[in-house]
Amino acid sequence: MNKFRILIVEDDPPIRNLIATTLKTNGYKYLLAKNGEEALRQASTYGPDVIFLDLGLPDMDGIRVIDQIREWSNMPIIVISARSEDDDKIEALDAGADDYLTKPFSVEELLARLRVMQRRLSLLRSDKDPNESPIYINGVLKIDLAAGCAYKNDEELKLTPIEYKLLCLLAKNTGKVLTHKFITQKIWGSAWDGNVASLRVFMASLRKKIGNDNSSTPYIQTHVGIGYRMLKADEKENTVK
Ligand code: CA
Repeated sequence: MNKFRILIVEDDPPIRNLIATTLKTNGYKYLLAKNGEEALRQASTYGPDVIFLDLGLPDMDGIRVIDQIREWSNMPIIVISARSEDDDKIEALDAGADDYLTKPFSVEELLARLRVMQRRLSLLRSDKDPNESPIYINGVLKIDLAAGCAYKNDEELKLTPIEYKLLCLLAKNTGKVLTHKFITQKIWGSAWDGNVASLRVFMASLRKKIGNDNSSTPYIQTHVGIGYRMLKADEKENTVK
């Protein structure tokens, strides 16, 4: 039995049942909430490890649920969005969600996202807080935060200051999808559109320098129209984008 407990917040019974059955079949424990009020009560009473949160709830917007939970907890939140537009996903990510699923999604996709969040959770809970630890290691990638140097296979990467800042920002948020707005604000202190265009250029160059390890999956995932995410080396293989 997997000791992770997941809160499913979804007002649509067939989808709620699909998620519940998938989790049960795969040995996860779960709790159910069918509206925002129940979600907040369950989250604060039981402290689940991960939340699947539908954004379109009958009593309140899912964004409000994220806002309220983020006042007291950094528990991973995966939003479930029915709409194909990116705007609500971006809003949810900027409010503090970690990842998103778009309806309709496959069972494999759901489980893959959950595994990424489990990895992220162990990172958040480990003694080696990625924000405190001076050395970040992810597969063949290493960042010596105190020295301000990054390495691949113990060979120093020749990064520009902005590329290095980008790499550190992604590394510190491993497993979490970061929006263009979030990244440009952190790197340049503002989020104007011109910076998003620059971001793409810097990111392309950074990714070229980092390259891949033995696998074909890059460390930095691109989420088209939304942003980027750093994956753990051992999670890249079985992650469905
Ligand atoms: Ca709904």
